[in-house]
Amino acid sequence: MPNKHKHIARRGLMLVLSSPSGAGKSTISRAMLSGHRNLAMSISLTTRPIRPGEVDGEDYIFVEQAEFDRRVANHDLLEYATVFGNSYGTPRGPVDEALAAGQDVLFDVDWQGTQQLKQNARDDLVSIFIFPPSITELERRLYARAQDSEAVVRDRMAKASSEMSHWAEYDYIIINHDLPTSVSQVESILAAERLRRDRQTGLADFIRGLGVGQ
Ligand code: ADP
Ligand code: 5GP
Repeated sequence: MPNKHKHIARRGLMLVLSSPSGAGKSTISRAMLSGHRNLAMSISLTTRPIRPGEVDGEDYIFVEQAEFDRRVANHDLLEYATVFGNSYGTPRGPVDEALAAGQDVLFDVDWQGTQQLKQNARDDLVSIFIFPPSITELERRLYARAQDSEAVVRDRMAKASSEMSHWAEYDYIIINHDLPTSVSQVESILAAERLRRDRQTGLADFIRGLGVGQ
C-alpha cells in the first residue's frame, strides 16, 4: 500500500547557538523563530537585571537568586551556569514538552550549558558556534545594542576570548558577517539535521511500505 502520509515521524532535536556576547545569536534566533513554526525557543531563567526592551517571560524569565536556587534544588533545570556574575539556567519542563510534541528546540546558552546538554542528550543535540567578523565589529555591536552600560560592555569584551576558545567543541561554525546569510546557514544546518536517518523514527514503516527489505 502506498504511504499516504506526507511527513515521516521523527524525533525532535535540540539546536544550540553559542557565541561571545554581541556576536548576534539572539538576532539570529529571533529570525529563525519567525520563519519556522516547528521550532520552539527555550526560555531561560536568569538573575540578571532586565534590559530596556526585554519582556519577562519572552526573552528570559527574570527571577531572584533565591528562586533560582530553589529551581536548582528541585532539579527543575536541564543545565545551569554562572555567566558574567549572574545565574542562567534552562527549565526542563518546556523542553521535554516541545520535544514530545515533535518540535525542535532552539537554545541560546554559553559553552558551559552546551557541555551539560551534551552530557544529557548527545544524540539529540546539534551545536553551532557563532563568531563575529572581527573583535572591532563585536565591540561595535555591543555598543550598537545600547542596552548595557560601558562597564558591562567592557566586561563582556574582556570575556569574549575565553568564550571563543570553546569553538572546537561545537558541530558547526558560522561567522556572522551579514544577517540574512547567517540565518540561511542556520536554516541549512537545521534542514540537514532533520533529515538524518536516525532522527526519522518513522522511516522503517515507510521503507517496509515500499516493499524494501532491511
Ligand atoms: P547576542 O545575542 O549574541 O549577545 P545580539 O543578537 O543581541 O547578540 O546582537 C548584538 C547587536 O548586533 C544587535 O544590536 C544586533 O542588531 C546586531 N547584529 C546582529 N547580527 C548582525 C550582523 N550580521 N550585522 C550587523 N549587526 C548585527
Ligand atoms: P545575555 O545576558 O547577554 O542575555 O546572555 C549572556 C550569556 O548567557 C550568553 O552567552 C548566553 O548564551 C548565556 N545564557 C543565556 N541563557 C542561558 C542558560 O539558560 N544557560 C546557560 N548556561 N547560559 C545561558
